[in-house]
Amino acid sequence: MRQGVKEIVLISGKGGTGKTSIAGGFAMLSGDAVLCDCDVDAANLELILNAEHLETREFQASKKARIHKDKCIECGQCGERCRFEAIHDFQVDPWSCEGCGVCSRLCPAGAVEMYPVLSGHWFWVFTTSIGCSKCAGILGFPPLCV
Ligand code: SF4
Ligand code: SF4
Repeated sequence: MRQGVKEIVLISGKGGTGKTSIAGGFAMLSGDAVLCDCDVDAANLELILNAEHLETREFQASKKARIHKDKCIECGQCGERCRFEAIHDFQVDPWSCEGCGVCSRLCPAGAVEMYPVLSGHWFWVFTTSIGCSKCAGILGFPPLCV
């Protein structure tokens, strides 16, 4: 039973609204806390909490297409149906491919492989900046007690 444990979620569909700053402010007031910055593009809460990196791991959240020439019968369907115009001369441009998987599903020869790509990294950090509430209001600086 998690008596006394509270969860606060800050969410917005728009970037730049100040979610991270508000989360940092709550963190400074919270005492002991576990914080999770789930921003898909730029998780950067640790920057304003003077955090120390403990562990970094790779994060794979999407795939890209690859055509195996030895299986391809050059029917051209994949290039015609790719709405991102990522397929030319029976080859996939990985910079244009959005990983939708349409080409893989419609290929009559099973020549398209969807392979996972590195989307970014996730990491654990530790900070002493939220150890007490006396530093509230000076986000971005180390705690006054050390
Ligand atoms: S996965 Fe989608 S975007 Fe990528 S090449 Fe195939 S159809 Fe185009
Ligand atoms: S749909 Fe399949 S067989 Fe046809 S051109 Fe594309 S990869 Fe080759």
